[in-house]
Amino acid sequence: MHGACRCGQISYQVRNKPLYSGYCHCHACQKRNSAPCVSVFLIQKKDIDFHGKTDSFRSLGGSGKEMTEHRCHDCGDAIYSDLSVLDNVIVCLAATLNNPNDFEPEGHLWVSSRDPRFEIKDNLEQQAGPPKQMMPYLAK
Ligand SMILES: [Zn+2]
Ligand SMILES: [Zn+2]
Repeated sequence: MHGACRCGQISYQVRNKPLYSGYCHCHACQKRNSAPCVSVFLIQKKDIDFHGKTDSFRSLGGSGKEMTEHRCHDCGDAIYSDLSVLDNVIVCLAATLNNPNDFEPEGHLWVSSRDPRFEIKDNLEQQAGPPKQMMPYLAK
């Protein structure tokens, strides 16, 4: 799988299957993307290669712990976030994938902060907070 920002200055190559893919309804995603939810995939750092220059921005993630967002230096598109709660795993914004069909959502995250006007009509798993699938990767 390949992805890029809109201007193309940042590109990346995914070399292994993501650990988890889904729709995130957390406040940070809603605010960053001005959207009710955001498609994301979580992947080990060793399984993705980035090219290009990013600007980083520190803020608090859904868990209340620090995260560092990386955006394209030129067009400003958000590419990925490095969460301090996870070891060697990053959260990538799946809309940056060149082929949208490469995104294979397994469920919904942080539905506790879902916009009530935004109804979920699929049958995917819903989790109130972060994905339980990431438990083995929590930072010690
Ligand atoms: Zn989120
Ligand atoms: Zn760009």
